[in-house]
Amino acid sequence: ESVSNIIAAGEVVENPASMIKELIENSLDAGAGSIRVEVKNNGRDVRLVDTGMGMGKEDLFLCVERHATSKIKDKGDIFNLTSYGFRGEALASIGSISKMIISSKTNDSKTGHKINLNAGKVTKYEEISRAVGTEIVIKDLFFNTPARLKFLRKKSTEYARIREIVLKEALYNTEVSFSLLLDGREVVKTSGRGIENTILELFGRNTLKNSTKFSLGYWGNMNLLKSNKDSIYTYVNGRYVKSKTIEKAVLDAYYTKLTRGRYPFAIIFFDISPDLVDINVHPSKKIIKFVDEDGVYREILDCLTDAIYRDDR
Ligand code: ADP
Ligand code: MG
Repeated sequence: ESVSNIIAAGEVVENPASMIKELIENSLDAGAGSIRVEVKNNGRDVRLVDTGMGMGKEDLFLCVERHATSKIKDKGDIFNLTSYGFRGEALASIGSISKMIISSKTNDSKTGHKINLNAGKVTKYEEISRAVGTEIVIKDLFFNTPARLKFLRKKSTEYARIREIVLKEALYNTEVSFSLLLDGREVVKTSGRGIENTILELFGRNTLKNSTKFSLGYWGNMNLLKSNKDSIYTYVNGRYVKSKTIEKAVLDAYYTKLTRGRYPFAIIFFDISPDLVDINVHPSKKIIKFVDEDGVYREILDCLTDAIYRDDR
């Protein structure tokens, strides 16, 4: 059982950033209005605090069991779900390859509860007093999986990945306030006051000033300074994804305005019926394919071209 946890952990926790993504999505599923993430030690030590609904004692013990999920089990199609989680694997996996402490309290309980785990085994339990919500502390990630530990990249790389993950969650969940601290330095801070405040807080005033709302999100004026090939942010049904098709549609829409080698800044929130998403993609992979790639291409190209060239006509 613990061996299969460690194997599953390999899929869920590729690196500290993917672990943090799972934790944040749990907090979002719990309805948190604020999520704070503190990272140290190359991403091997992480503390997350949320203001979600919390867990009672029983749920706290359950949540670290494999396949324990309080969320609706669906047909396995992640693009068809109202919550992020569904496999009940993340916490058990993370627990099995670290030292973990979870503290939590629900609204309808006087006290909170706290458990300590070492490599997936509960080593301690206590009743505590704390506010409603959950705190998860992870220490020494990969301490018992030397092979994984070897794949840890240098700090700047791991921290850049983590920042990117938190930024992408914050950019979609704009009613939630996010804070990310890397070695004590706050690198992401949003107030949860809507999309335009969030764009301002994540990318700065210049980006907000030069971005225009359109039917699928925001498109940036090419005079923007800091765009690069990663500045096309694409969400399908609320999940951050990579799609060659969407990226090409965006680039083609900008075509005559783009100077060679430059990329636009764009945020695309694309919603599509889940059965038009190719389900043969692994849930942990962010690459997405559509049943009708041409149709998606055309729809995004049309909307964006319309928006960009509206003023020129
Ligand atoms: P999943 O998200 O697929 O259900 P996880 O292993 O990520 O599986 O989480 C297991 C369970 O633990 C969740 O279903 C949820 O009930 C509970 N849980 C995890 N994180 C939180 C949190 N931050 N706040 C409240 N409940 C949580
Ligand atoms: Mg989860």
